[in-house]
Parts: sequence; structure tokens; C-alpha cells
Amino acid sequence: MASNDAIPQPTSALAINASLAAGPATPFETVELTLRPPNANELLVKVVAAGICHTDVMTKTKALCDFPIVLGHEGVGVVEAVGSGTSGFLVGDHVIMTYDYCGTCPQCVSGAPSYCDHHGELNFAGVRPDGLCTHRHPDSETADIAGSFFQQSSFATYALSHVTNTIKVDASLPLELLAPLGCGVQTGAGTVLNTLDAQPGTTMAVFGCGCVGLSAVMAATVAGVENIIAIDVNGARLAMAEELGATSTLNPEDFEGENALVEAISTVRPSGCHYAIDTTGNPEVLRQAFEACGPMGVTAMIAPGVPGTEVTIEMMGLLPGKSLRGVVQGDSVASEFIPYLIELWQDGKFPFDKLITTFDGLDSLDEAVNAMTAGEVIKPVVIVDPEGP
Ligand SMILES: [Zn+2]
Ligand SMILES: [Zn+2]
Repeated sequence: MASNDAIPQPTSALAINASLAAGPATPFETVELTLRPPNANELLVKVVAAGICHTDVMTKTKALCDFPIVLGHEGVGVVEAVGSGTSGFLVGDHVIMTYDYCGTCPQCVSGAPSYCDHHGELNFAGVRPDGLCTHRHPDSETADIAGSFFQQSSFATYALSHVTNTIKVDASLPLELLAPLGCGVQTGAGTVLNTLDAQPGTTMAVFGCGCVGLSAVMAATVAGVENIIAIDVNGARLAMAEELGATSTLNPEDFEGENALVEAISTVRPSGCHYAIDTTGNPEVLRQAFEACGPMGVTAMIAPGVPGTEVTIEMMGLLPGKSLRGVVQGDSVASEFIPYLIELWQDGKFPFDKLITTFDGLDSLDEAVNAMTAGEVIKPVVIVDPEGP
């Protein structure tokens, strides 16, 4: 594909509005910031909408980043400018932004970019690969603001992304609905379809029915999993799990003691589940997920809790060929997997749009975060540009 070196590049910084996180307990605040012009390897994207993921919330509330920072890693928008070294994108393209990877380390080369050697630097460092911050206060030359979150920081009117973490989509699609495909939905669905490669006729337990868990439930129906057991303390989410294909639902609050829930799961398949997925980041729940699996069963851990969190598992429990597998982004090669999920959605087999509640404007970010953490909504998507693409 032709490179974009003939297209004039913006050379001056851009005034944007962004939702700034100033500290762990400080509310988000919409402020005017300055965004650097795209370098040769970047795309400038006018953000239309951004989903909110628990990773945004954890990063802020647990102070897993430098402050102040612009978060947001489920952005969708329209390409506004293309760096001279990029190819495959044109101004006006509708895009989904997702996690970034280097493309050259052993995992990237072998087709496993979510386990990139540079995953941390590229997605969580707060700076772009050249070490510079992309955002600053307009009245300051020095007070740089952390950004480049998942090489997008999409809680803002504009974002800088890379070709590697930007997925072009058909302009006829409802762009704002596609935002969660960039992280939460792809993580849950990818765990089932890529990591576990779930087989028809099997039994799966999904612990936690937020966006990731419910995406796993939908993907399990696509894979033909026979028994899909959804587990959550929120009755509304269990009802949604049932609507999306869960064949049984369990509320841990109905069971006394740690083993009772596992015993209830075993009534579905006495020799244990083929697969269990923990989306909660809670070590006790992860242990239950592991124990719910039978011989040769695989437990997928998606949420690791805060750094330093440990889980105990009886060594003997691993012996019947069981394994515990950490999962990042559902092992997805996003450029292939996201278009596949869109196809499934268009065929009516993967109704992920049912998980979404939209909120208007960057100013609604705190309200949206609170609604998500209170369990009132499953996947909030903030409409950044009400005019749309
Ligand atoms: Zn890599
Ligand atoms: Zn996420």
C-alpha cells in the first residue's frame, strides 16, 4: 500500500478537550490541553466515542500510573491526519483503537501480540515510544501530562494512535457501538474462541458477568459450548447472561462456604468443567474457578487484581492435567479478530450491543464510571462527539 508521505502533515500542536485524571480519588475533569502533532508513525484520530473499562478505573484508583494522566483505551473515531511513515490509512477512515504491540519481538512475530515484550511500555507507560508525553497544559511548555494510554488516551476529543493498534472499519457501521470491541468484548470473546478454543458439547463456568464475562458467554454460544454456567452476585447481570445464552446461573450469595458453589457447579457436570474463566481479579474466586474444572480442565485468568495479589492452589489439584492460564486481550490479533466479531454481530450471533449504555460528553465520565462500578450498567460508552463521525 502507498505510504502517506505526499500528504501534508499537521506540524503544530492541537488544542483539544480531554478528561484529566489528576489523582486516584479526584473526579475526572474536562480541561483544555495541547496535543502534539502526529509523528511519522502516528495517526491523529478525532474521537467519536470511548468505552470505559475496569482497567481505566483500576489504573486511576489504585494509582498504577503517573498523574495527571489522560486515560481511555476503547476509543473509536475518524482519522484526521496520517503520519508520513504510516500506510493503510487515509483521512476520513472510521477506526477502532485497541491495545498496541511492537510487531518485532518473538511473541509478536509468532502471532501472539498481546504477549508482546513491550506490552507494558506501549500501553501503560504514559509516554509514546520516543519517551515524550503527547499532552500538556496550554499555558506550560514543561508540565507534560501523561497520555499514550494504550497509545490512544481516548477520553479526549483527539487521540494519537499507531497503525498497529488501529483497526479500520466500514463507514456504514454505527461507530460508537463498536468502542468496546477494542478491549472488553475482544478480551471475553477471545478467551473463549482463541485462548481456550472451546469445543462444542463442553461445559464452561464464567465467574463475573460484566462486559468481559458476558462477552465470554456470547462467544461460548458461538462455539457450541453445551453447558454455560454464569456466576455473579448481581441478579440483573445473571438475567442478561441467561438472555445471551447461559444455560444456568448461580449467585454465590445463595451458597454458604467456599465449597458450596463449586459443588453446585458440579451438579451440571459431575466430573467438572472443561473450562472456567475468572473475570473478577479476586483470588478466592479464581480458586473456585480452578476447583470447578475437572481433569484436563483449563482455567483462564483475565483480571490479575492489583500487583502483588497472590492465589493459593493445592498442588495436588493440578495433577489431573489441569492448568491455569493468564490471558491478555483474549489472545486476540485485533486486526483479524475484531472484524470477525463484527461479522458475528451482523449475523445476529454475537449481540454485544446489548451490553452498552451510552453517556453524553466527556463531562459524564464520572457518572458513567460510578454506574459501572455500582453494577447499574455493564458497559458504559461515552459519546465524545455528539455530531458523530
Ligand atoms: Zn512485541
Ligand atoms: Zn480494557
